[in-house]
Amino acid sequence: MDDKPITTIGRCYACRRAFAFDPSTVTLFDVDPATGLPPGMTPLGSMREPTPESLARAVKEPVCPRCVEKARAFLDAPAAPWPPWPRPDR
Ligand SMILES: [Zn+2]
Repeated sequence: MDDKPITTIGRCYACRRAFAFDPSTVTLFDVDPATGLPPGMTPLGSMREPTPESLARAVKEPVCPRCVEKARAFLDAPAAPWPPWPRPDR
């Protein structure tokens, strides 16, 4: 026996690439297998109250570190500046 953490091979929910991960540290995402989307998310990407059936069906899918990093960068990015509305001179 060595001290290396047990790794699992799985497919990333976001980019569908296979990657090796440690099940105890990998980022997991709830996915409803009936829709392929997180419970409560509509195909248009908006959120609504998830149905109990959807929550019961949901399985945890791993997300690879690259996609986690991309999602973090997206969340940390400053919002696009909103240009001031042009006003006629008074
Ligand atoms: Zn990925």
